[in-house]
Amino acid sequence: MKSLREILADAAERHVAVGHFNISDLGALKAIVAAGRGMNLPILIGVSEGERAFVGVKQAAALIKSIREEYDYPIFLNADHPHSLDKVKEAAEAGFDEIIFDNSSLPMEENIANTKAAVAAIRAINPEIVIEGEIGYIGSNSEVIDKAPEGIALSTPEEAATFVQETGIDVLAPAVGNMHGLLKAMAAGTEHKHLDIERIAAIKAAIAALPANAQGGGSWMTLHGGSGTEDADFTAAARAGMTIIHVSSELRLAWRRGVEEGLKNPEEIAPYKIVAPAVPAIQKIVEDRLKLFNGLK
Ligand SMILES: [Zn+2]
Repeated sequence: MKSLREILADAAERHVAVGHFNISDLGALKAIVAAGRGMNLPILIGVSEGERAFVGVKQAAALIKSIREEYDYPIFLNADHPHSLDKVKEAAEAGFDEIIFDNSSLPMEENIANTKAAVAAIRAINPEIVIEGEIGYIGSNSEVIDKAPEGIALSTPEEAATFVQETGIDVLAPAVGNMHGLLKAMAAGTEHKHLDIERIAAIKAAIAALPANAQGGGSWMTLHGGSGTEDADFTAAARAGMTIIHVSSELRLAWRRGVEEGLKNPEEIAPYKIVAPAVPAIQKIVEDRLKLFNGLK
């Protein structure tokens, strides 16, 4: 089986993106795995700080490893947005395949210094772990929200190149019109996020021009907060240089609607039966997103 690093290199070369989907329960995991395996595409599972606290850091690692081994299926695990060195080390020691160190809320110089320290700490534990760093600001809440977070700051090619070169990360998460969470109109499907595709291409060109780091990484990028994005923008973003695309809020919304459906029978008390209607709904979203990330019809 290819390593995550090899999968990202391959996706970048083909200008497609690997889907990253968050979980905190077995219903969503079942749906995501069914979609990915059915389409024969690799998958990244993400667990945020809240999701890691709920699922358990070691338990999440054991769960994903068990699926990878049982089905010989390329499914990998990402620690989504740890903000501290302690959380980063905890995930690295538990066997996570990717870690996104996020100090993007701090001034650039502090973000660089802290990300560099996180890179050193992770490499010392396991140099194979794919490390992502983040610049710009796209909000921090993967929920349905009333209005866009204040202080959204788009990234520039210059700061992207400086950040990648100074920190030695493998993957960059820039702000390019994406946003964590869903506005109410987006949850209703009447409004969509629009990405700055030219900015994505310019940032990609700036970091691809740098020498690769010792692990061969440094030119990959992740699109965070993909939920609610215009369909065509997903495919254009992958073509322009996004190698990983995150979708979380959409799956949470489908989970909730599915559970509401499951609760309609007042006699039903089996949790797996109550969550069952959410599974095909989540699977459908993941399949539709994977098609767009891979330019498939
Ligand atoms: Zn994110």
